[in-house]
Amino acid sequence: MGKVIAIANQKGGVGKTTTSVNLGASLSSLEKKVLLLDIDPQGNATSGVGIEKDRVEQCIYDVLIDDVELADVIKPTTAEGMYSVPATIALAGAEIELVSASSREKRLEKALEPLRDSFDYILIDCPPSLGLLTINALTAADSVLIPVQCEYYALEGLNQLLNTVSLVQKHLNKDLYIEGVLLTMFDARTNLSIQVVEEVKKYFRDKVYQTIIPRNVRLSEAPSHGKPVMLYDARSRGAEVYLDFAKEVAVHG
Ligand code: ADP
Ligand code: MG
Repeated sequence: MGKVIAIANQKGGVGKTTTSVNLGASLSSLEKKVLLLDIDPQGNATSGVGIEKDRVEQCIYDVLIDDVELADVIKPTTAEGMYSVPATIALAGAEIELVSASSREKRLEKALEPLRDSFDYILIDCPPSLGLLTINALTAADSVLIPVQCEYYALEGLNQLLNTVSLVQKHLNKDLYIEGVLLTMFDARTNLSIQVVEEVKKYFRDKVYQTIIPRNVRLSEAPSHGKPVMLYDARSRGAEVYLDFAKEVAVHG
């Protein structure tokens, strides 16, 4: 049975999409079958794996709102072995439309059910909010992976995220657990980065991954080429470190 991991943090720009795309591609290079689900209306994970949003006819919006089968919107990506469910700007309306929908928190869980066995990993790239789209992801997921940027106020807002996780555990998905906390955009030249690592480790202890993602310009360039970093520059530090990270994640099953 495939493992469903929601990649979430309501802060924008912390590395959710970069992690979704590059963890997914790295897992697929380890011969895992991966489905990358984009549920952010910005669709950055979609374009980041080479899917042209303008040409997408049906996306995750149609699945969540119009009961289209998830299997019917799956597309191949630039990474062999990784498939994607795209998001387009159409999804921007879903947050509000879901409010009055029946079983509004469980729509993604239901849509994923028939596909769980077809993949080893299903990664969900969440939007930067704790609204109904993220709630749908947390309800559908086995676990939540939290990227934390090595920046000022790294821990700020994480209580809100953890509260949301608790609420979901209580009411919607009692088995949800924290897969791990990933430190991103580490800059070894700054004391700040080092302090943030210490602080986050003090707070999350053994939940913090050993792999720490450094700042690497190749990681920020790759999306404009529609490729995960390992296909854009396989020898870059970014490609190496996300492969290490994928191995660490795979050890946990
Ligand atoms: P989120 O999905 O949480 O909003 P992104 O993954 O889109 O965050 O990252 C925000 C920005 O930072 C993007 O422009 C991305 O290319 C860049 N970025 C992310 N991780 C790194 C990194 N390790 N090194 C350099 N740039 C990065
Ligand atoms: Mg994103």
